[in-house]
Amino acid sequence: MNYRHIYHAGNFADCMKHTLLVSLIQHFLRKEAPFLVLDTHAGIGRYDLESPEAEKTGEYQSGIGRLWAEAPDSPLAPWLELVRRAGGPRFYPGSPLLASLMLRPQDQLICCEKHPVDKRALYRLFAGQPNISVHERDAYESLRALLPPKTAKRGLVLIDPPFEEPGEFDRLAEALQTIRTRFAAGMIAVWYPIKHRTPVRQFHTSVEQAGHRNVLVAELLMRPPHNPDALNGAGLLVIKPPYGFAAQAQQQLERLKTALSAFDATVNELVPE
Ligand code: SAM
Repeated sequence: MNYRHIYHAGNFADCMKHTLLVSLIQHFLRKEAPFLVLDTHAGIGRYDLESPEAEKTGEYQSGIGRLWAEAPDSPLAPWLELVRRAGGPRFYPGSPLLASLMLRPQDQLICCEKHPVDKRALYRLFAGQPNISVHERDAYESLRALLPPKTAKRGLVLIDPPFEEPGEFDRLAEALQTIRTRFAAGMIAVWYPIKHRTPVRQFHTSVEQAGHRNVLVAELLMRPPHNPDALNGAGLLVIKPPYGFAAQAQQQLERLKTALSAFDATVNELVPE
């Protein structure tokens, strides 16, 4: 496990994933009924952008670093407000910290993080918060252990793997099947890198052929995906997105495209309801 998210925190892919994540969670807040967020690859939750690791790559400078001057009516504003609350611009909140800031007392956040050092950091971050639990365990194994949720009938499973080992798209496809079997009503968001089109197309086809319904794909490309060794773009595949999310995501990605000088931004229905 060599991957450390601190080198990439706040980059364009994080900005895209996190603004969409906040929108997905916002939809749960419209009803009083409790919800669960299961973050299967949680990371450390809070990233110091002045650390040597973040400064070494400087990736955040072409991501969150270009978004501080967003207008209050920007489609990115709800997420940026949470980034500020979490300590921005110096500290950048990852997915579990963003989710934690949106929880009400009746809601629950479960985080899994396999790296022992990162797990300890995340555990410390959430110490004393009774509706948040942090597990040092494998993401894919956790799906069987933690689903269906015990405390809520609705919820979101966020799967955000590092893609450092071959076969991640296959593990993702299998995970989607497991979630569908154990938590059929659950919303699922899967992040993936876009280096070259071929593996992404194959993943989409496997999702279609597995019979998942109501699947949306949001993608932000920084440049054409021709170089298989570079992170040319990022995607979020959402199963059972809430009503109105597609239009909201389109606006947010359009805004990111302009602000980050990206190449393309698209939101497409992969499988209808
Ligand atoms: N979701 C985080 C966010 O948006 O702030 C970033 C997560 S980072 C891309 C991926 C994380 O997954 C890393 O912290 C890594 O240590 C962890 N990880 C890698 N393989 C894992 C596995 N099989 N199960 C759980 N965590 C894993």
